[in-house]
Amino acid sequence: MNNLHEFTAEPMIAYFSMEIGVKNDIPTYSGGLGILAGDTIKSAADLELPVVAVTLITHKGYFNQEIDSNGWQKEKAVIWDPAKYMTLLSEKVKVQIEGRDVYLQAWMYLVISPTGGKVPIIFLDTDLPENASQDRGLTDYLYGGDSDYRIKQEVVLGMGGVRMLQALEFHIKKYHMNEGHASFLSLELLLRFKRDIESVWDERSVWDVARVRDLCVFTTHTPVEAGHDNFSYPLVKQVLGEIIPFEVLKDLAGKDSLNMTLLALSLSKYVNGVAKKHGEVSQHMFPGYHIHAITNGVHSFTWTCEDMAKLYDKYIPGWANEPELFVRTGVIPELELWEGHREAKRKLLTYVGEATGVVMDLNTLTLGFARRATAYKRPHLLFSDIDRLLRITEKSKLQIIYAGKAHPHDDNGKKLIQGIYGYRDKLKGKISIAFLPGYDMDIALKLVSGVDVWLNTPLRPLEASGTSGMKAAHNGVVNFSVLDGWWIEGHIEGFTGWSIGALPTEKSLPGSSDAEDAADLYDKLDNLIIPKYYDLDKSKWSRMMKNAISKNAYYFNSHRMMRRYVTEAYIR
Ligand SMILES: *Cc1c(COP(=O)(O)O)cnc(C)c1O
Repeated sequence: MNNLHEFTAEPMIAYFSMEIGVKNDIPTYSGGLGILAGDTIKSAADLELPVVAVTLITHKGYFNQEIDSNGWQKEKAVIWDPAKYMTLLSEKVKVQIEGRDVYLQAWMYLVISPTGGKVPIIFLDTDLPENASQDRGLTDYLYGGDSDYRIKQEVVLGMGGVRMLQALEFHIKKYHMNEGHASFLSLELLLRFKRDIESVWDERSVWDVARVRDLCVFTTHTPVEAGHDNFSYPLVKQVLGEIIPFEVLKDLAGKDSLNMTLLALSLSKYVNGVAKKHGEVSQHMFPGYHIHAITNGVHSFTWTCEDMAKLYDKYIPGWANEPELFVRTGVIPELELWEGHREAKRKLLTYVGEATGVVMDLNTLTLGFARRATAYKRPHLLFSDIDRLLRITEKSKLQIIYAGKAHPHDDNGKKLIQGIYGYRDKLKGKISIAFLPGYDMDIALKLVSGVDVWLNTPLRPLEASGTSGMKAAHNGVVNFSVLDGWWIEGHIEGFTGWSIGALPTEKSLPGSSDAEDAADLYDKLDNLIIPKYYDLDKSKWSRMMKNAISKNAYYFNSHRMMRRYVTEAYIR
C-alpha cells in the first residue's frame, strides 16, 4: 500500500527529466534544465494540473563548488539524505542492463501548492542490495562518468520510469520528455504496445509507432551539438541487447549511432523548442520534423525575493498564482519600488562581503553575471578591452558579481572561472569584482534580485532560451543582453532593458562577433546605462524596473508556459 490513490484515479501527464531542481536542499540538479523542470512542476501544482514527475535520486548530488587560492574550481561531494524529505515507496521494478536484472525503488516527494494542488515527484533509485555493485551506483551522479554510465542511467530513467509508473498504478495519457535523456521511455512504450501478429509480411508492422507518437511530447533544449546524447550501436547492443531489431531502431534513432534526440523526435507527435528563435534553429537542425516553440518561463513565487514580494502583495495581491497581474505594476509608487530594490541589494552585498571578503558599495551600479562556465556564454566579453572599460569606470563607478559552475570534466570552463579571478586581482582598486562560489538556487535568487543590471553575453544562436534573465525581471532588475533566446522576445530597447549586438537573422552558426558585440556593450554602458543609473531622479530608473516587471515577468513565467503546454501539447 502507498498513499498514491489520490493520484491514480485520473489519467495523468508524466513529466520525465534527468534533473529536477525543486528546492535548494534537494541537490538533484545542475542548472537551467533542472530548475526549469522544478518550476514546471510547481506551476503544475499551483494550477492543479494532473501531473506526475519522474527523475533520478542522484545520491551524490551534482557537486559543491570550492575555488582554491589559484582560482581553480574544486568539486566536493554533496552529502544528503533523501529520507529527510521523501517517502520510500514499497514497489520495486526491474530493467535489464547487460543481461543483468537491475532493480529500482522509488522515493516520492510531494510538491504541495498553497492552492491545494499537488504533484508527486518519483525519484528512481538503484542502490539496492539485490543489485550488482556496479549497478547500485547508477543513480549516484548527475552527468557523471562516461557514455557507458550515461546510457545505463538513461535506461533506468526512461524504461525504469515507465515501469515504475505502471507498478504504482498510474494511468498515463501523455509522456513528456524534458530533453533527450528520457527518450528510452518511448522505446519502452514501443515494446509495451508491440502488436501480437503471427507471421507478418512486414517485420516493421508489429511496432505501433503511431500509437507511441500519440502518447509522447518532446522538448529539445539546446542547439549545442554536445548537448545531444549519442550512443554507438555496439554500446547499445551490449547494454540493452537486441530488444528491438536494429534496422527498426536505426530508422528511428539514426543510421550511424543512436541519437537520443532523433529517437524522441521520431516517437513524439508534438515537439517544441524553448523560445521562438530556438524553435527555428532546431527546425533547421532537424529538417523533416515539425518543431513548434513554447518559450520558457520561471516560477514567479520562487523567483521573487522577499522585498519585492512584499510590495507585490501590497499593490497587486494575487500575483503569485496569477502573474498576469504584473500588467498592473504601474500602480506601485516609483520610489517605493526603488527602496524595495535597494533593500534586496543591501542583503546581496552583505552576503558578498561575508562570502568573499569583497566590500561593495550600495550606491554603485552593480552588474550580475551567473551561468554555467562554458565558452559560448563568453564571461570575458566585458573585459575584452580593459582600457576602454577603465576609461568608462573612471567617470562613474561600476562593480560586478559573478557566479557559476564548470562541469567537473571541463577544464576550459574552469579556466574561464580562473580568468575572472585574474581580472578581479588585476583591476583591484578600480573595479570591484567578486566571484561567489557554489552557484545554487539560493545564491541565484540573491543575485537576480540584488544587482541592478543582469548581463548576458552568449554567442548566438547558442542560448536556447536562458531563464535567469526572466528571474531578474521578476525583481525589477533590467537585462542587458545579446539578442538570443528569450531576450529576442522580451526586449524593447531602452524600455525593458538593452540589447548587445545586432538582431540576428541567421538560423545556424556562426552568429555574432566578439569585437562587434564588445563595442556595442561598451557604447551602451557608457552612453545609456551609466547616465540613467546615476541620474539624480531615481524615478527614471524605477520606471524601467516597472517595465521589466510589467512586460517581462508578466509573460516569461511558468504559469503561462504550462497553460500553453496543456493547450498545445498535452490535450491534443
Ligand atoms: C536559473 C538558474 C540557472 C539557469 O540560468 P540560465 O540563465 O538559463 O543559464 C542555472 N543555475 C541556477 C542555480 C539557476 O538558478
